[in-house]
Amino acid sequence: MASKGGLFGTNGIRGEINRKLTPEFIMNASLAIGSFIGENRTVIVGRDTRTSGNMVMDILKGSLISTGNHVYDAGIVPTPALQLTVKDHADFGVMVTASHNPAIYNGIKCIDSDGTELNDEGENEIERIFNAREFKLKEWNNLGRHDIITGVNHNYVYNVMNKINKEKIDKNLKILIDCANGAGSLTTPVFLDALGMKYTTLNCNADGNFPSHDPEPKEENLKELMRITKDAYDFGAAHDGDADRIVFVDNDGNFISGDRILGLFVKYITEKRKGIIVVPVTVSRMVEEITQKNDSKLLYTRVGAPIVARTMMKTGAIFGGEDNGGFIFPEMQHARDGLMGLAKMIEIISERKMKFSELLNELPEYYQKKGSLEIPPGKFNEIMKIIENNAGGNVVKIDGIKVFEGDSWVLIRPSGTEPLVRIYAESKNRNDLENIFGRYMNIIKNIIREFQ
Ligand code: MG
Repeated sequence: MASKGGLFGTNGIRGEINRKLTPEFIMNASLAIGSFIGENRTVIVGRDTRTSGNMVMDILKGSLISTGNHVYDAGIVPTPALQLTVKDHADFGVMVTASHNPAIYNGIKCIDSDGTELNDEGENEIERIFNAREFKLKEWNNLGRHDIITGVNHNYVYNVMNKINKEKIDKNLKILIDCANGAGSLTTPVFLDALGMKYTTLNCNADGNFPSHDPEPKEENLKELMRITKDAYDFGAAHDGDADRIVFVDNDGNFISGDRILGLFVKYITEKRKGIIVVPVTVSRMVEEITQKNDSKLLYTRVGAPIVARTMMKTGAIFGGEDNGGFIFPEMQHARDGLMGLAKMIEIISERKMKFSELLNELPEYYQKKGSLEIPPGKFNEIMKIIENNAGGNVVKIDGIKVFEGDSWVLIRPSGTEPLVRIYAESKNRNDLENIFGRYMNIIKNIIREFQ
């Protein structure tokens, strides 16, 4: 994890416009990024639909040019479209986005030359340059160039088209797609058109005010999608603001958890081909059960898409993803990719010739519960030690502490942004779930009481 010395949080550089993200802050962050990249490097920059996008982008571009880097502006693009283009054509990428956050936010995300999000070492070095103000400004005759790069979105759509089995696609599938007025508005409808699908759009006009709902693809924001999809569409789908994620609604209008969609993808992929699957420790054991049944191997990582992506690269994994709608298809790139998720789902439903709800019924059933408790700052490690000493079952410490007891597990991890511990529990039956969840909530409450 980055040192969090005021620049990078768990989601890159992120904050409210003209509060944390003032012009001066954006400039200093961008100068630090430019000084980190080097000089004479090709940098592709892009942004989501936020109203503050031009403000951040112009400061970013000026700063990169002043540190001697050649800037190519891709305009409004989904994050995975930028990542793909950086991987194929550039030395570095910078995406101006606050992903799923409300309209007042914006942010800056760094993309390495291989198309993956910059690693912790890189972020730490940028943060060091930022804090020390060690900016490498160039002379007037050594400034970087600026140009526009067109076709990033079309190239991305074209690449996704080439990654699916077009002959087997059922063109009669009825799809409802909600782009949350974000960057996916410029690519996902284009893809569905190119494929010849019957689809209807909801909030697919690019609008950084996010007039319909916040761009976080969670159930309470997607009531309209659920209502319209029910009994009228084969499925509904929704992106977040920068379209690196996608969530789904089944033909009955039910919002489907990211865990179950992961399960669907893993089942389909490992039934065709054995290999390694990578997920963070928070993911349902259902995915592990499916993987094992199909003679494949599941690897758990710390929470965070870049960690999942890099583990996949290292191990040659055939698929990976998170429980929040982030799915990584390595045949495309080692990055979360919302449109690839949609394309693969269309492929699965076409090939299996089953209703979405019927496909979901094939998955093993698990029950989950999540909660959080406030903790005194700096006390997490002590809490973890006490839990470890008292744990009845097997303990795994990949991220926080995960305790396995028979068919149940509980995971306790610190929040990256608030003085909280998050408690996740899962079991094959409801009674065991209530038991393990309640027991560990009480254990943690007692430990916290002792600190007071
Ligand atoms: Mg996102």
